[in-house]
Amino acid sequence: MVGSGPNGLAAALTLARAGLGVEVYEGASIVGGGTRTEALTLDGFRHDVCSSVHPTLVASPFFRSLDLPSLGVVLRQPEVAFAHPLGGGRAAAAYRSVDETASHLGGDGAAYRALVGPLVDWLDRIVAYALGPLRSVPKDPLALARFAVVGSPSIRYRTRHLSTDAARALLAGAAAHSMEPLTAPLTSAVGLLLTALGHGVGWPVVEGGSAAIAEGLVREVRRLGGDVRTGHWVHSIDELPGSARAVLLDVSPRQFLALAGRRVSARAGRPWRRFRPGAGSCKVDWALDGPVPWTAEPCRRTVTVHVGGTFEEVARSESAVRAGRHAEQPFVLVAQPCVVDPTRAPAGKHTLWAYCHVPNGSDVDMSERMEAQIERFAPGFRDLMLARSVRTAASAETYNPNMLGGNVNGGAQSLRQTLFRPVAQWNEYRTPVEGVYLCSASTPPGGGVHGMCGRLAAETALRERFSKG
Ligand SMILES: Cc1cc2nc3c(=O)[nH]c(=O)nc-3n(C[C@H](O)[C@H](O)[C@H](O)COP(=O)(O)OP(=O)(O)OC[C@H]3O[C@@H](n4cnc5c(N)ncnc54)[C@H](O)[C@@H]3O)c2cc1C
Repeated sequence: MVGSGPNGLAAALTLARAGLGVEVYEGASIVGGGTRTEALTLDGFRHDVCSSVHPTLVASPFFRSLDLPSLGVVLRQPEVAFAHPLGGGRAAAAYRSVDETASHLGGDGAAYRALVGPLVDWLDRIVAYALGPLRSVPKDPLALARFAVVGSPSIRYRTRHLSTDAARALLAGAAAHSMEPLTAPLTSAVGLLLTALGHGVGWPVVEGGSAAIAEGLVREVRRLGGDVRTGHWVHSIDELPGSARAVLLDVSPRQFLALAGRRVSARAGRPWRRFRPGAGSCKVDWALDGPVPWTAEPCRRTVTVHVGGTFEEVARSESAVRAGRHAEQPFVLVAQPCVVDPTRAPAGKHTLWAYCHVPNGSDVDMSERMEAQIERFAPGFRDLMLARSVRTAASAETYNPNMLGGNVNGGAQSLRQTLFRPVAQWNEYRTPVEGVYLCSASTPPGGGVHGMCGRLAAETALRERFSKG
């Protein structure tokens, strides 16, 4: 195994559970990839460097197969899954209950219930597709068809019948996690699935920080006899033990080509070189003197706040990024873990985590624009700032080479790269090198902490390299 992100560790654990000997080589000095927690600002403040909010972990068949508390992974759930301030003390909010959410959406309440309610009722069946193998015979074609019908169009099209700014903004914010313009196909699938997860399983954080996820998985791999080494960058597949019967790479297609070197011909490598990295992100962490003073009450009862105003404002911000520009008023994804997890900061203090989308590889520090957006809905926020840490999209790859130009999803989650991820082939985890598999978020089901890329890649390797039949 190369790489110890959540997918690398999920793959390692899947192989170790099958009784195989596993060695994991991690380049960084600490394990976890996108699930690390570090003291980025002041003593006593612990920040999730990348991933912080974990609906896909709770829903993931891989993580559901584990006893999370025994691995030290304790989830902390906010009362409100996510909120979206609209100004004047108002906010749209995804409460845990669909009915409660709908009851706050005025004239769109019934339409919201009709759109989201069935997805929540069918959540397990839909998750089986959304987080399952892409090319397989559907066990439940009806659930697949229903999700395909509502999820295929853009979120702009899907919400065209909604009339309230609250309902439209709520779904726009969830859909913008796709890092695609709100006119792009499948943005409904992302937005509606995340919203349904908010109702069905919540949007929790991990007590003490996301690092507990990686640490728990590493402990389990080691308990089963596996070896996990840090500070060991792998520069070529040839450096790996020749005795390995399978090699799994928790890396991007670009890194795969570099690791494979001459083992991949120019022709075979062409589709891999075409893989698009997608938009980047500028990430900011703050140490705060207290909680963010949101004027809208639901924002104070949730971890995740989507800051960017109306549907049209969010759409403008995301379109600017696609056009290669930096939004003056960016859509900002904010997480305030201390609302449910006071262990992240000294008594009475808070940590704040946020990122906004920017053109790939941008070196622009967006912190002041992001702060202006937060201040807009939480006057007095700036007075609470004790320290901040900024990571531009350009510097992201230095931190983790998988973050291509600052992309958080392992590469663009466009229509093409959802259907053919990383390249068009029947089994997405295979590479042109025999016995070498890709298991990162650049394979299906893509970005997020769910470990399913790793598990499905490991299952492919088990079938192809270890099955006696
Ligand atoms: C800013 C940000 C915010 C995010 N927020 C969320 C969130 O709230 N919720 C959520 O579910 N997801 C979130 N994500 C996405 C999530 O973190 C990723 O999708 C996930 O971590 C991908 O896991 P992975 O195992 O594929 O790769 P990674 O987590 O990127 O891990 C890859 C690992 O491989 C190592 N590696 C790479 N190349 C080599 C090499 N040659 N030799 C040795 N080691 C190597 C890297 O050092 C790294 O540790 C966020 C991501 C970012 C960047």
